[in-house]
Amino acid sequence: MAVEQFSSPLWVYDFGVIEKRILELRSFDVIRYAQKASPNINLLSKMGGLGLEVDAVSAGEIVRALRAGFSPSRIKYTADVFDKDALALVKEHSIPVNIGSPDMLWQLHEAGVKVPLTIRINPGFGHGHSQKVNTGGELSKHGVWHGELDALVKKAMQLGFSVDCLHMHIGSGSDFEHLSQVVSAMESMVPVACKSLKTISVGGGLPVSYKRGEQNNMDLEKYYNMWDSSRKRISNIVGHAVQLEVEPGRYLVAESCVLATEILAVKKMGNNLFYLVNAGFTDLVRPAFYGAYHHISIIPKKSKELGELVDVIVAGPLCESCDVFTQEEGGVVVSRKLPLAKVGDLLVIHDAGAYGSAMSSNYNSRLLAPEILWEKGEFTQIRKRQTFEHMLNNEVCNE
Ligand SMILES: *Cc1c(COP(=O)(O)O)cnc(C)c1O
Repeated sequence: MAVEQFSSPLWVYDFGVIEKRILELRSFDVIRYAQKASPNINLLSKMGGLGLEVDAVSAGEIVRALRAGFSPSRIKYTADVFDKDALALVKEHSIPVNIGSPDMLWQLHEAGVKVPLTIRINPGFGHGHSQKVNTGGELSKHGVWHGELDALVKKAMQLGFSVDCLHMHIGSGSDFEHLSQVVSAMESMVPVACKSLKTISVGGGLPVSYKRGEQNNMDLEKYYNMWDSSRKRISNIVGHAVQLEVEPGRYLVAESCVLATEILAVKKMGNNLFYLVNAGFTDLVRPAFYGAYHHISIIPKKSKELGELVDVIVAGPLCESCDVFTQEEGGVVVSRKLPLAKVGDLLVIHDAGAYGSAMSSNYNSRLLAPEILWEKGEFTQIRKRQTFEHMLNNEVCNE
């Protein structure tokens, strides 16, 4: 068992799951992994080996992609702003850019950088399970407002840029009625003048079923077919063939990873039973952040049999009352039916691969947990447990 070898808390990835999800998306001409979902360079380089391209939303993500062996042309910097480091890296390596604000065009021009451009469109409406993940509309900061697209494309062309790709990341999930609105918005916004257009990027946002027993994942064939027909109509508008690109984060990695924790305390609070484990929202923040649901299971340390099912609240070690894994949106703490467990038993939090380790922090001076890859019957460490020394590395003691 990985926990015996590496102790807990511990992220354990199964690369076979990622590979399976990649294969399902093979009909798209380009699969661009949105690495922010889970950016370990070991995962990135394996995905690169399977032909994927990669998205980078910051200077640090460009560095990761380069370190993982992606050639610059297979990286795309997608953001609404440049900071100094990002602009310098884009310039140094000639990395294609997906522009989310018109200012970025002027900044590229001023820096004397000529790279292939994508423009991210805000079509004027969005979608998302909470305002925190909504990616379109007047309240969203993402993308170029649709009414300004034509002028920006013209300006880019005048400045000598080629606008290769138009991009929308709205994330309709499995809501196909909404998706058809997104598809028609994309078609209606393609500027006829955009002769250099090579690719339509449909963004990410493909959903994953976190609850057991829910119908698994989405109808990918239908999703592909809707975009494929749209691509054909767009080809007619611009007068040549265009490619289809998809940009999933969550879909590729969510189910590939569990967060293995150990139960440190079992206690009653009035009528409620609590399991306190050795991981908190410093490891997995999704429940505290969005009230996200994760399936939980127990592996007893000593006995072979699971205890009877009881109602439990599962919480972490942090000095923060929202450090609870069983909560709903708005911070409502709820209980979960789990086997009766003892101190020392393992508690496994499932489907933690997307926005799990990636969102971890050092709050409460807790160390970042190690990451382990399970592949072909073997566990390999792909990130070591952080050390206290490393945590304190940049702090300066001025006596
Ligand atoms: C976050 C992000 C994605 C991936 O979103 P998922 O919901 O994880 O699929 C794709 N594209 C862009 C531009 C993003 O910011």
